[in-house]
Amino acid sequence: METTKLPSAMDIIKKYDGPAIRIMEVCGTHTHEIFRLGIRQILPPQIELISGPGCPVCVTPVGYIDEAVYLALQCGVTICTFGDLVRVPGSAASLAVARSRGARIQVVYSPMDAYDYAATHRDEQVVFLSVGFETTTPASCLAVKKAVRQGLDNFSILTANKTMPQAYEVLKGSADAFLYPGHVQAVMGTAICEKLLKDGISGVVAGFTAKELMTALAVIMVKFSQGKPFFKNCYPRVVTPQGSRTGQAVMEQVMRPCASEWRGLGEIPASGLALRPAYNAYDARLKYTVPEMHGHGNPACRCGDVLQGKCRPSDCPVFAKGCSPEHPVGACMVSHEGACSAYYLYGGML
Ligand code: SF4
Repeated sequence: METTKLPSAMDIIKKYDGPAIRIMEVCGTHTHEIFRLGIRQILPPQIELISGPGCPVCVTPVGYIDEAVYLALQCGVTICTFGDLVRVPGSAASLAVARSRGARIQVVYSPMDAYDYAATHRDEQVVFLSVGFETTTPASCLAVKKAVRQGLDNFSILTANKTMPQAYEVLKGSADAFLYPGHVQAVMGTAICEKLLKDGISGVVAGFTAKELMTALAVIMVKFSQGKPFFKNCYPRVVTPQGSRTGQAVMEQVMRPCASEWRGLGEIPASGLALRPAYNAYDARLKYTVPEMHGHGNPACRCGDVLQGKCRPSDCPVFAKGCSPEHPVGACMVSHEGACSAYYLYGGML
């Protein structure tokens, strides 16, 4: 029997001669991997990739850094944090500057590391900087639950956790198609993508290997050319329609939706997660009566526009001049998931 050989993703990408497509890489890891794997060089010129708000450190507003610096310097707590946040500039100082002034700043790799630090340093008050999306939030919830179980009273978290669906809504119209983040959809499933499809928003869930990313881009090219809104899960080995029920359940149990401020996007209703009242004792804002802080970023920094796909990092007047990974002016240059750091590292490949 004669068999028809299907074209490979590479064939589709190389031969694409359809309409121009603007694709938003929602996830910062996608931005970096697409650069690192050299995928940009093989894309036809009518395919434009723009960055989105999926880097948790990048979307965390300046005021949050100010709160962390306040806790470290004014309240004398030990801050446990992912490393990237240490160098993000606040209004007046970063956590790195606070450390040079005597603050205790511990870099950890997970919320449970912060819990362990608190459990083994009972003479210190420890605050974990809980930032991130649905991917990392369940781990923060588990650390709080364990602290409750163990009666650990020197541990609390400063929440800036965010949820992606509301950001997708805000970014509707910014791109012809979203490259949905595989990690987030692995936890949350694909219901939001199906809902957006009903609203006419197209996108595909993508994995992180070269094959997965090229397949996702090829699917966008084929589907977009057909002229109808589309959704396809191109990461089925990890992402299921229902997602992780366990992850969703622990978030639901420990946290509640709240309004949240996103760098560049402003305050988005119900796009954040805060601890439920039953966990007030573990809420650092309440425990230390942290005053409300409205941060002020460097006026030259265009992180807000970069995170909405309104400009490329290289359009920023201080990109690779005043702003570099060694001397970052904004969060998008600090984070290893940030678009500015990706352009800085790999920009010569464009
Ligand atoms: Fe901000 Fe630096 Fe990026 Fe400009 S290059 S947008 S200053 S992080």
